[in-house]
Amino acid sequence: MKILIKGGHVVDIKMGLDKPIDILIENGKISEIGDNLELSSGDIIDASGKYVLPGLVDAHCHLRDPGFEYKEDIESGTKSAAAGGFTSIACMPNTSPVIDNQSIVKYIINKAKQEGVVNVYPIGSISKGLKGEELSEIGELKFAGAVALSDDGKPLKSSSLMKKALEYSSMFDITMISHCEDLELADEGVMNEGYQSTILGLKGIPSASEEIMVARDIILSEYTKVPIHIAHVSTELSVDLIRFAKKRGVKVTCETCPHYFVLTDEACDEFNTYAKVNPPLRTKKDVKAIIEGLKDGTIDIIATDHAPHHIDEKNVEFDNAANGMVGFETAFPLAITYLVKPGHISIKDLVEKMCVNPSKILGLNKGTLEIGNSADIVIVDVDEEFTVDIEKFQSKSKNSPFNGFSLKGSIYYTIVNGKILVREKVML
Ligand SMILES: [Zn+2]
Repeated sequence: MKILIKGGHVVDIKMGLDKPIDILIENGKISEIGDNLELSSGDIIDASGKYVLPGLVDAHCHLRDPGFEYKEDIESGTKSAAAGGFTSIACMPNTSPVIDNQSIVKYIINKAKQEGVVNVYPIGSISKGLKGEELSEIGELKFAGAVALSDDGKPLKSSSLMKKALEYSSMFDITMISHCEDLELADEGVMNEGYQSTILGLKGIPSASEEIMVARDIILSEYTKVPIHIAHVSTELSVDLIRFAKKRGVKVTCETCPHYFVLTDEACDEFNTYAKVNPPLRTKKDVKAIIEGLKDGTIDIIATDHAPHHIDEKNVEFDNAANGMVGFETAFPLAITYLVKPGHISIKDLVEKMCVNPSKILGLNKGTLEIGNSADIVIVDVDEEFTVDIEKFQSKSKNSPFNGFSLKGSIYYTIVNGKILVREKVML
């Protein structure tokens, strides 16, 4: 029942800790933090030379359950999350049926309790059936346990419905997450519009299709004075618009995903469908702007947008391939390798963006190792290098463009509610 984590470098924003210190876990909770703690019987983990962080919190993933269990289900999805150091994850509602009523919210919560290994928080849809026509029963969703609302995967086309949705979300105190895309501008494009799409002869999606909706949602948020969270920001102008809005005092927050600060549309070369994602991978200038936004705090969260697809949905012509990539098992090492190691942000900043801010924005009591909190902890070696091997993923799906990448940031332990799920890099 007792676990002692000894000698690890603990980073915790809430407690202001950034130094080696011991942590004692009792009955699933953090019971003591201090120097030279001792344990006569129980499990002692030697964490010297490693970082001990609050378990990672993902504000945006797709578990595909119910309806698409051949891609992923709650068991495989939460194992994949644990392998990547995530202890709490919020899953998007584009399942079948859609998470637009309390019975689906309850189904997910119950199944996660039985088969899941990490904490799962369902996100309900803004509109019924993701159709963008009428609002879901927002109060019912919130009451059943939904932590946020989103039509992710699809934009809410109607500005007036978005305004109404914001007003309701404020009434029920539930976070609104917007997927920003003007579908008419996107016009069934399959990659970023620009030099690369011309070379490949593929139909492009202009960056404006994202930015126009970011601008609209910022304006609606300012007008209604209701907070809005912008999902998967991918372009320079989106970052600039959000920076400008924050300066004006608009209650806007946003996230990006590792692929938007690591890859450009050049990854679509040779019609690589694993690089097909929505919003699409952009250009070098956008990647630079995303990193700038992460550095100056314009971008609050790094989310995975973990989007599993069966190989048959990717082994097709680029035009017909499904959008999305799996992300749980590469997100943290990509952030270490491409943000922390080059000196763009510190480990402390990363804890803000992968633990503290997602918890805050979703209203979860997570992201800190304070005494009394449930023991959700990740222990990592940020210097150890490894090669990504998609065949070793816990996820049912292997659609990652990062196969073969050499990354730093190994997950040594993942602990959820005091239970060790990953021990010495091995999933138990
Ligand atoms: Zn998504």
